Amino acid sequence: MKSNDCRQGKTFKRKQENLVKVFNTLTRQKEEFKPLVPGQISMYVCGPTVYNYIHIGNARSAIAFDTIRRYFEYKGYQVKYVSNFTDVDDKMINEARAEGTTVPELAERYIKAFLEDTTALNIEPATLHPRATHEIPAIIDFVQNLIDKGYAYEVDGDVYYRAKKFANYGQLSDQNIDQLEEGASKHVNDEEQGRKEDPIDFALWKGQKAPDEIAWDSPWGKGRPGWHIECSVMSTKYLGDTFDIHGGGQDLEFPHHENEIAQSEAKTGQKFVNYWLHNGFVTVGKDEEKMSKSLHNFVTVHDILQKVDPQVLRFFMASVQYRSQINYSEENLEQAATILNRFKNTLEDVEGRLSDQTASQADPELTAALSKTKEAFEAAMDDDFNVQNALTAIYELLPVVNSNVNSAASDKEALKTFVKNLKAWLLVFGVDAGRLVKSESSEDDSEIEALVAERTKARQEKNWARSDEIRDQLQAMGIVLKDTPQGTRWSRE
Ligand SMILES: [Zn+2]
Repeated sequence: MKSNDCRQGKTFKRKQENLVKVFNTLTRQKEEFKPLVPGQISMYVCGPTVYNYIHIGNARSAIAFDTIRRYFEYKGYQVKYVSNFTDVDDKMINEARAEGTTVPELAERYIKAFLEDTTALNIEPATLHPRATHEIPAIIDFVQNLIDKGYAYEVDGDVYYRAKKFANYGQLSDQNIDQLEEGASKHVNDEEQGRKEDPIDFALWKGQKAPDEIAWDSPWGKGRPGWHIECSVMSTKYLGDTFDIHGGGQDLEFPHHENEIAQSEAKTGQKFVNYWLHNGFVTVGKDEEKMSKSLHNFVTVHDILQKVDPQVLRFFMASVQYRSQINYSEENLEQAATILNRFKNTLEDVEGRLSDQTASQADPELTAALSKTKEAFEAAMDDDFNVQNALTAIYELLPVVNSNVNSAASDKEALKTFVKNLKAWLLVFGVDAGRLVKSESSEDDSEIEALVAERTKARQEKNWARSDEIRDQLQAMGIVLKDTPQGTRWSRE
């Protein structure tokens, strides 16, 4: 009886230790993450307004939450991931007008571009990608419900949310009503100001302003949804009144997410989201400037991918903890490429060793290092997705692996485990090890192989002059040779 209790206690404790801790913006502390349904996670992340190619700020958010999703999947959770497209708003209308095209055409073009860019960055497709314009009836019902409950009011075809009526307004962004009033009065244009009961009220529905403006019929006349309401509608429609995780950039905390809470909780009477996660900003260049159109440092992923390997960009952005500021610069990209190369070279060396005919010999030091690394990797990721510490743990394993690979007899079982683990770890960062190693075998590989074979022959014939000549020729092509007891291996610099 006693031993049984003890065993149960131990199992429970182990499970506890394995819980992920996340920093919840709502409570401003790290909390143990417990999903509503064991083993399943419901997650909503605000997507882009599709009036242009996504910039690296959008990519940062998409990559941060994809990395989080992938780690939950690594731990065995099933993740339902919903991310929207804002395909109607002022920016869309203005851009369509400037280009002489329609809002739907603009949306189609940039949704396609978004999917191309995110596929290149190995971001898993969302379980669902709802679009605001496909949800108009649900949005109208939601707004009507808020009017019926006294949380919203109509003025001349616009509908506004009565922010002060919602008791917790300001809780997420940690502001009181006075601060909010002061902030709001600075930002609202006079025309809208005059219509609202209070400066902090915000639009749920915007009446059509010009005949050529895209609009839908509603109980308040022709118009279109405001930005905040679409996320409340789409998240609760596809994930339920309460769901586990809501993500987005820090810049969305206020007013966007504050308003989402006010709208959703006023309608459902339930807690909207259990854990609010926000990713940090991106700065650009040596001086770590904030990205902005006026500074002309507004970088789109489409442009970057013309010259940067998507795996390098992906790995670089995934290797900074999601809440930290990230500095996009050539130096930092190069550093990420160097680290990826080390993983690639080690994988190739190990796979080369696994395919030779030598017998396997147990190496307790390698086995111990493998399990220590797995523990350290998971402990780091469990701690609010501390990717830097997780990477350090993997990095420290490489010399142990390399020394085993270069020894007379390798522990092939342990090396197989290493390959399996490294691939799973890299995948959390969105790096596909298959693609990483395969990118080596491009078309000119046969030429390199032939030169390496010729050099081996020259060495056997002790023709050192020719052997050196070939080495120099390969070096000029960016190929590094490594002579091992099992033969010559090559890799790209
Ligand atoms: Zn949103």
